Order: sequence, then structure tokens, then C-alpha cells
Amino acid sequence: MKMKHMVLVGAGMVGLSLAVGLRQQGHRVTLIERGQRPVFGTEPELRVSAIAHTSRDLLVSLDTWQGLPAQRLGPYQAMEVWDYDSFGRIQFSAAEVNQDDLGSIVENKVLEQILWDRALAAQVEFLTGVSVSAVEQDQQQVQLRLDDGREITADYLFAADGGKSTVRSLLHIPQTFWDYEQTAIVATIAISHPHQNTARQVFLPTGPVAWLPLADPNQVSLVWSADTARAQQLLALSAEDFVRELQVVSDQCLGDLSLHSERLSFPLRMQYAQTWLVQRALILGDAAHTIHPLAGQGANLGLADVKSLLKVTATEFSQRDLRDWERERKAAAVTMIGTMEAFKRGFGTPNPALKFARGLGLRVADKFAPLKQTLIKSALG
Ligand SMILES: Cc1cc2nc3c(=O)[nH]c(=O)nc-3n(C[C@H](O)[C@H](O)[C@H](O)COP(=O)(O)OP(=O)(O)OC[C@H]3O[C@@H](n4cnc5c(N)ncnc54)[C@H](O)[C@@H]3O)c2cc1C
Repeated sequence: MKMKHMVLVGAGMVGLSLAVGLRQQGHRVTLIERGQRPVFGTEPELRVSAIAHTSRDLLVSLDTWQGLPAQRLGPYQAMEVWDYDSFGRIQFSAAEVNQDDLGSIVENKVLEQILWDRALAAQVEFLTGVSVSAVEQDQQQVQLRLDDGREITADYLFAADGGKSTVRSLLHIPQTFWDYEQTAIVATIAISHPHQNTARQVFLPTGPVAWLPLADPNQVSLVWSADTARAQQLLALSAEDFVRELQVVSDQCLGDLSLHSERLSFPLRMQYAQTWLVQRALILGDAAHTIHPLAGQGANLGLADVKSLLKVTATEFSQRDLRDWERERKAAAVTMIGTMEAFKRGFGTPNPALKFARGLGLRVADKFAPLKQTLIKSALG
């Protein structure tokens, strides 16, 4: 197979994973990142992701998962989901599907630092502290101008430069989007009852609240998604008052809570790029799709883009193969966007009949083993 020169933009977990995978295949890789090498601290980082088994398998094949420090990984063996407003509750456990865990909570910066070092060892050529200012291409090659004046010519351009993608704008790719009208507040919370490696989520009428188990049995990562007005109120509260509100919605499932970090907030928006492939340039990860974090699937979706793209680049691929990749990945993203919307609308409704049906649905799913196993298997990815 003839090796190609790929230029990548964006060294988040999606761009870095792709860079390592392409180098494993022998391609030449130049990775442009406007920031610098991420360095994680001693305290848990506030941005975390629930990494599903399929994503973990990709990271194992990239020789990266093995490098993640065990003391920074939160494998979860069970999940509890309940409805604040009704009797509905469902519990899943890894044992029900003969697995050790249902996934792992990973701090984004920890994963990114390990991936970055893996990419350096694999001789990815990094250009840091720069952005892209122009993209031109023809049938044979793609040419990038950087904002420091440098020019790069390559066979293909793969951009994973996040939700505000510069490359997507430079390629004039239109987007479908809507505002979820919610904001996610994230923080590290200290808890008096150990989390027992269980991920918990309660659906409130104003949005879902998730407590994700960290490596320390007495710490969880909070992702509180709330209608924007409510989120602003919560952010304006003192630490004590914020914790008091959180204590109320937690139903005491984690004992006494206290705030262990600052609070960060992220406005939530669905974005879906209408085209992912323009001649020899393609976009993936958050640059192509962003979704509500309620099922913890955004990064998993991006890593699945990578896994599938690596199957294409492992061959002497043609434009048609890239077009097939685009079709397959767009279908997966649309399915996920639809599922998130159904969840959000289903749990956000004040309609009493729908609330009753929702409670009943959760109870039935909890008691009916085959349905439950199907749900668990789809959550594993
Ligand atoms: C509150 C919250 C909770 C979430 N929880 C989960 C979860 O549990 N599980 C899950 O799977 N997903 C989760 N997600 C989604 C997940 O965080 C994202 O899908 C994932 O981080 C996207 O990775 P990425 O590499 O595509 O983009 P990013 O992480 O945004 O990386 C983009 C990179 O590109 C660089 N860049 C940007 N512009 C340029 C430019 N012009 N030139 C050069 N470099 C550039 C940036 O500096 C950055 O390094 C959550 C999201 C939120 C908001």
C-alpha cells in the first residue's frame, strides 16, 4: 500500500487517536493544534467522559489504554437511573451481561496527555500554537496556510478541531443545529457514602443530574444539566447553597455532599454538519456532531468515527470509500441525535399521563430481563 501524508487539525481525543492509528499504519502524519501538550494535575480534572467498551477497545489497539494510570480511572460496574417525579427506576449491572464493568469514567485531560505522548513516540509531527487560515485543494492534494504564514501540502486533511471548527467554516460546510436551552454544570463532589463504582443519574423536569464515580471511592464527577435560567441560578449560589440544592435532588444516595472544586459550565447545543467530506478534506468528532451529554456518548461517537476511518485508511482507498465512510458515520450520528432528543423530551415533559407512562416504562424495563440485557448491551457500545 502506498503511504500517504495526512494533515490533521485538532489534538483533542479524536484527533490524537486518529493520529496514532494512522502512524501505526505507516502514513506520514502532521498534527496542527492551536494549544499545547495537555498536562493533568494531582486533583481530578473537571471534564470527564464515560468511555464505552468499543472506545476502550480502540484505545487498547492504539496502545494507549494500557498507559492510563489506574488511580485516575473510574470503572463503573452498575448504573442507576431514576425519575425524580415518579416511581420509575432502573438498575443495570455488569454482572447481568457477564462483564467486569459497563465502562470507565476517564478524565479528558488524562486521556489526552497519554495519547499525546503516544503520538510523539509514534513520530507524529506536531505543529503547536498555530491555527489554520486557508484551505485549498484539487484532485491530487490539499494545501493549508497557517496563521503564522507557513504552508503545508498533504494528500488528505482530517479535521477534529471541535464544535467551533475553523476547518468546517473554511470549507463552507453548513450545519443543522438547535439550542438544547440547557447548560451543563460540572464539578468534583466529595461524598460520605462510597459510590460503589455505580454511575447514577436522576431526571428532573429541568434536566438530568449525573454523578459519575471517580477512582477515589469518596469522589464523584457531577454533570448537572439544567434549563439555562435554572443553571444560571445554581451558578450564582454560594458553594454551601449549591450543595444544599444538590443534596435535595440526590435523595441522600451518596450521603453528605461537599463541593471539592470550582464549578464550570457549558451551554448545550446540538450541531450536525450537513457534509463531512469535501474533496480531500473531511471532518469528524465534535467538528461534525455535538450532542447532549445525558447519555455520555459524544466522545464515544467521535472515537467510533476514528475506528471506522482507520479501516478505510488501512487500504488503498478511493474517494468512494471515503464517501461510504461519511454515509455510515452520518447515519450513526443521526440515530444518536434522535435518541438524545427522545430522552430529553420524554423526561422533560410536565404532562402527568406521559410521566406515568415513563415511570411504568422504567419499571417494566427493570423487571424484564431480555429487554434489560438489550439496553445494557447497547450502553456498552
Ligand atoms: C458537560 C459535558 C459532558 C460530557 N460527557 C461525556 C461523556 O461522559 N462521554 C462522552 O463520550 N462524551 C462526553 N461529552 C462529549 C465530549 O466531551 C466531546 O464529544 C469530546 O471531547 C470531543 O472531542 P474532539 O476531540 O472531537 O474535540 P475537542 O475535545 O473539542 O478537541 C478539539 C481540539 O482542536 C483544537 N482546535 C480547535 N480549533 C483549532 C484550530 N483552528 N486550529 C488548531 N487546533 C484547533 C482544540 O484546541 C482542541 O485541542 C461531554 C461533553 C460535555 C460538554
